[in-house]
Amino acid sequence: MEIKAPRGTRDILGEEVALWQHLEEVVRRNAHLFGYEEIRTPVFEHTELFARGVGEETDIVQKEMYTFTDKGGRSITLRPEGTAPVVRAYLEHGFFVRDPRVRWYYLGPMFRYERPQAGRMRQFHQFGFEALGFQDPACDAEIILLAWTIYRELGLSDLSLELNSIGCPLCKPHYVRRLREYLESRKDALCENCKRRLVENPLRVLDCKNETCQAVFREASFPSIQDFLCTECRRHEERLFSLLKRLGIPFVVNPRLVRGLDYYTRTVFEVKVHTLGAQDAIGGGGRYDGLARALGGPEVPGVGFAAGMERIVLLLERSGFPRKGTFRVYLAPQDEEGEKDLLALSQVLHEAGIPFCLDFASKNLRYHLKRAQKMGVRFVVIAGEEERKNEGFSLKDLVSGEQMLLSREELLGRLRKERETC
Ligand code: AMP
Repeated sequence: MEIKAPRGTRDILGEEVALWQHLEEVVRRNAHLFGYEEIRTPVFEHTELFARGVGEETDIVQKEMYTFTDKGGRSITLRPEGTAPVVRAYLEHGFFVRDPRVRWYYLGPMFRYERPQAGRMRQFHQFGFEALGFQDPACDAEIILLAWTIYRELGLSDLSLELNSIGCPLCKPHYVRRLREYLESRKDALCENCKRRLVENPLRVLDCKNETCQAVFREASFPSIQDFLCTECRRHEERLFSLLKRLGIPFVVNPRLVRGLDYYTRTVFEVKVHTLGAQDAIGGGGRYDGLARALGGPEVPGVGFAAGMERIVLLLERSGFPRKGTFRVYLAPQDEEGEKDLLALSQVLHEAGIPFCLDFASKNLRYHLKRAQKMGVRFVVIAGEEERKNEGFSLKDLVSGEQMLLSREELLGRLRKERETC
């Protein structure tokens, strides 16, 4: 049997790696500039963390988790998202006592048992930012600005930012009650899944992508959470809107936006790129003032954002992201002695910071030239009898076709110069 990567996973290799590295570099640099430090949490956690932190009734917990019992009989889950682990780490290390305001970011694989399709994987990658201990709407604006800055720096266009508030424990229940009543009255038009959700958690119904359910949500009389916000939530939202306007970040209010995770309070937002088709969300986030409490900790306000890296890489690929030419020299031995000379030369190149590739497979020059061409390498350093006699190396430029015999020092000087102009 031929063994393949499991369904919903894939290898990242070849030219695509440069896109990932570029994306990671942009994320890290901007995180650093905005004062966010990296946090690396385990890839697996106790299942209970997600059951409590994401919510028992969510699709993630009910259907999508990679959960197994380990050899010690513990229920373990591969992380489906990054926020609950970050808050778990914050509480576990007692930050709420010694240093309650933190700004953290992460990058890494997440796991969800979903139906794979373009832009939707079972192992996918996210980068995310979390600011804990900040109550002020300015922090919501900061997180959105950070996300926006990264997307813009990556050259992504046609972005739309959708915003909503889902209230707080004071006002949310009033809306949920009204929503349940409304949906009950339109029950016949809802899908089976929504009928079930209606009983357990009517807010979750708004996540349904089913066209007939969507038509119900679009009805003019459909209740909007915006009409139910308490004074504090409204003030929070208005302040955020005015900050975003000041920052020049365009947004639309989407009163149907609730996001799939349970711990959100007040601000929720999503960034979409319509050219991506069905899987058009490239990131989302919001405020989760209820999460630390749900995990057994004290009341800690928090706001965060997570972005899907596969979808961003797809967009970069489509935009013909300019792949920086990586300078590298190809070392082509003509005989065994030449191999020795080139191996010794590779130490010098390494010290000079010049990337190289030494091929031991053949002593045949034609083979080497073909191979270098295929690898997209411009300069080939040749070492054989002729070069030994002259105590040097030949350097062949595959673009101009020019070849010259150089001493080791001359060769290094020339390669250094070429690298700079590359
Ligand atoms: P969420 O944690 O569900 O809010 O997702 C945040 C972002 O991660 C989404 O906007 C997507 O860009 C991305 N994402 C979520 N699930 C997947 C998946 N199964 N495959 C690829 N990207 C995903």
